[in-house]
Amino acid sequence: MFSSLRGSVIAGTSRVSISRYSTTIQAKKKLVILGSGWAGYNLARRVDKSLYDVTLVSPVSYFSFTPFLASTSVGTLEFRCATEPVRGIKGLEYAQGWADSIDFERRELRIESSVTPPHAELAAMVARSHPNHPGHPSIHSPASGQNIHMDTMIPVSSRHRAQQRGMATVVGDHDPADHVLLPPRFYTLPYDKLVISVGCYSASFGIPGVKKHAHFLKDIRDARKIRRRLLECLEQASEPTCSPELRRALLSFKIVGGGPTGVEWAAELHDFVHRDVYRLYPHLKDQVRITLYDVAPGILINFDASLRAYAEKKFHRDGVTIRPNSSITAMGEDWVELDGKERHPYGLLVWSTGLCPNPFIASLPVKKHERSRAILVDKWQRVVNTEGQRLKGVFAIGDNATPADGPPLPATAQVATQQAKWLAKALNAHGRGQTLESQPGFEWKNWGSMVYVGNSRALVDRSREDVAGPKSRMAGWAAWILWRSYYAQLAMGWRNKVLVPIHWTLASFFGRDITRF
Ligand SMILES: Cc1cc2nc3c(=O)[nH]c(=O)nc-3n(C[C@H](O)[C@H](O)[C@H](O)COP(=O)(O)OP(=O)(O)OC[C@H]3O[C@@H](n4cnc5c(N)ncnc54)[C@H](O)[C@@H]3O)c2cc1C
Repeated sequence: MFSSLRGSVIAGTSRVSISRYSTTIQAKKKLVILGSGWAGYNLARRVDKSLYDVTLVSPVSYFSFTPFLASTSVGTLEFRCATEPVRGIKGLEYAQGWADSIDFERRELRIESSVTPPHAELAAMVARSHPNHPGHPSIHSPASGQNIHMDTMIPVSSRHRAQQRGMATVVGDHDPADHVLLPPRFYTLPYDKLVISVGCYSASFGIPGVKKHAHFLKDIRDARKIRRRLLECLEQASEPTCSPELRRALLSFKIVGGGPTGVEWAAELHDFVHRDVYRLYPHLKDQVRITLYDVAPGILINFDASLRAYAEKKFHRDGVTIRPNSSITAMGEDWVELDGKERHPYGLLVWSTGLCPNPFIASLPVKKHERSRAILVDKWQRVVNTEGQRLKGVFAIGDNATPADGPPLPATAQVATQQAKWLAKALNAHGRGQTLESQPGFEWKNWGSMVYVGNSRALVDRSREDVAGPKSRMAGWAAWILWRSYYAQLAMGWRNKVLVPIHWTLASFFGRDITRF
């Protein structure tokens, strides 16, 4: 077996090589993929492992199927239906951590582990009983100002005890309050080919309070937090001691952002309220308020005008209030400020107003788009440094990349998946001896857009000029069947291809699960 996850531990001044499988033969090129989202996960599945030693680095050990996040956040689907474990990909090495920096000269990545560290007592005990193990870190002593090798230290069980002895945490550790005498958190990972696909973050536009108090919907953990808070609001509002005013505030659910994600969440919430809250919390019937805010004059501005009008009319009929031309100027734990004037209380607020750069991308010395700050790539998805020189073996795909020539592509799973498929094919051909330039460059095919608008209705928009194939637009029940069929077959693994229709059926017959844990 060839070495597949080989790196160096950086701990203070010590730097020790570790190798999971020792070997001296280096036959395959090392391909490192950053991120387990639509781009990274799809690429990792498709790239030929007989040609490359593939390591995927991601802080989370799963792929999130984002189109189902809104459904999972209200219980239409179970959380497991929207995730795939990274380790389920055969022949892949997985490193759970954050890419922290890249040395393009040495072709090395610095990774910060995101695995919960082992208990400090255990780490210290093992370190003392095996003092010559190369993985032992040194720790920094504020008292002496020196790095001390861990095996010389006495085990400590708390930061307080460590401080009493003048010790501190492992060098480079970000959270001194939690970690005392732990294994190293950083290591280096060499690569021959590197694919950057770490996506973007949710934009909050620096509006005071948003980062701290809003709920975002980017990942399955966000969906879980939203579901917990939603059910908590319903229970709090059900307390006999709850005043009518407080109940009204707790049952005020707000969405900021009238794009597809905000609209789908409003639609799923509407379904949950009308089918399940009415049944399970009859005393709260008719008291829930759903409000959707957007700075734009309407919702779904990238959709065809007739479909937009359908969605707006439908929301109006279903009691979902749309507040166009509204700017959120500040928010607190339970209030939101509109246009710098009115303050409105809320029980739960979901924020979905677009994307901002991943801080890791922001830190990279590569050419980026002036406005979006995404990495500029050529038609083979290759990256150049700030001086315009091509970085050998470095590619970028997904939301964190944008073409250097031509208009930006939408930040969608559709684009990320097509890029991943294209790059897997190109890398496989390259691994078999063909040059990259002999491959046709990446070209995006727009298959159109879909959005769920609630009550078993959806919109399908294939009317734009750049859409591949015949043009069409649909709204209503048939569009919803298409929406469900499309996403059910898109689910990555067979387990979810089976589970998703089962959970849809269970939810429609027995209602959504309202267990809170
Ligand atoms: C709720 C929701 C619904 C959506 N619905 C649709 C839809 O129906 N159709 C559609 O086409 N698009 C949809 N999108 C958009 C789509 O999900 C994104 O465009 C897509 O996720 C982009 O893929 P990506 O791989 O570039 O980034 P992401 O999917 O965001 O993945 C980024 C990955 O990188 C990891 N990462 C982050 N930082 C680091 C680091 N420093 N080191 C290593 N790894 C890192 C993350 O943990 C994650 O695994 C939706 C988005 C959301 C949020």
